[in-house]
Parts: sequence; C-alpha cells; structure tokens
Amino acid sequence: MKRVGVLGLQGAYAKHAAVLQRLDIQSIDVRSRNDLDKCEGLIIPGGESTTMTKLIEENDLYDAIIQFAEENPIFGTCAGMILMATHVEDDRVKTLNLIDITVDRNAYGRQVDSFVNELDVRTDGESFTMRCVFIRAPRIAELGDGVEVLASIDDEPVLVRQGHHLAAAFHPELTSETRIHSYFLTLKREMSIA
Ligand code: GLN
Repeated sequence: MKRVGVLGLQGAYAKHAAVLQRLDIQSIDVRSRNDLDKCEGLIIPGGESTTMTKLIEENDLYDAIIQFAEENPIFGTCAGMILMATHVEDDRVKTLNLIDITVDRNAYGRQVDSFVNELDVRTDGESFTMRCVFIRAPRIAELGDGVEVLASIDDEPVLVRQGHHLAAAFHPELTSETRIHSYFLTLKREMSIA
C-alpha cells in the first residue's frame, strides 16, 4: 500500500507522523526522491523555512517535489506553508510555487512569539471550531484568485486551499486534533488512502 510522506529534513515532522498514525495511515519520512516515489501525498512540516530551503536543495528534492505536486496533494504547516507560497519577502527562501499566496515570514512572531486561538474552520462538507497553535507564524499578505480560505483570524487567512494543496499558518499536529489531516487525506479523490 502506498503511503503519505512527511518531509523529514528538519522541524516538527515526527508530530505529523503521529497524527497520521492516529488516523491509521502509514507514513514515511521523506529525505530523497526515492522516498517520495513511495508516497501519494506529502506533508511539509513547521520548522525554519530558510534551513529547509537549503536542505531541499542539498537533497535534490526541489524539482522532485514540484513534479510530485502535479499529481499528489501537499499540505504545508507554518514553515511548510512558507515554502508552498508563490512569493515570500525573504530571498533566502526558495518557494515551490504551489499555492498563489504572498507570505510574510514571522509576521505574527514579531508581535507575540506564539499563541493559541479558537478558530472556525470550514471545509467542503463541514464546519467546526478547533484550537490552533501559532508559533512564530507566517502571515498571508496576499491571496490569488484561485485560493480558497478555510479559516481566518481577524479577517486574515490562516488555512487555505488551492486545488489539491492545503496550507496552514498554524500547527494542527501539536494538538489532539486530527480533522485537518483527515481533510487533507480527502483532497485527491483517486488517492487510495482517502
Ligand atoms: N517563521 C518560521 C520560518 O520562517 C516558521 C515557524 C514555524 O514553522 N513554526 O520558517
């Protein structure tokens, strides 16, 4: 059976693997093209987007992830969201251009280092309230036309989707929450894991 990959180069990847395990989904830490070939979806975790940029390049994964993303869903949280953006106001980050957003790194972090908020989340089938943990969180400064907003904080989007890709400014892997990950698993109808 194919699996969901979690980019395992740096950051909070083990926490995502633990959520997938709670959902009975097999996961593997992705550190090479070969690992990626075994997956039907990929999670890019939180961490440090400048460091992750270097490690993605060093491990020859930049083009591989972009190619993988054509057919397979990708879910980025925090630093992962920064990497999925089309624009980031920091030259040290080389983005993957998967979701049409402009992101300001550490925007919330400059105000408060981290915080927890109860947010209303709207996905296709349901809407629910959940606790969201923000840690030096990036802010979505601009949003392209094709981007759907699934949750906001003070009118600023913090959970967005474009096609089969999903990105969150917060960390759903750090609470007991599994609904965002479950939603991600539905994003590609033909995925056998859905
Ligand atoms: N602000 C960090 C960055 O630029 C991301 C923080 C996080 O992933 N918790 O990469």
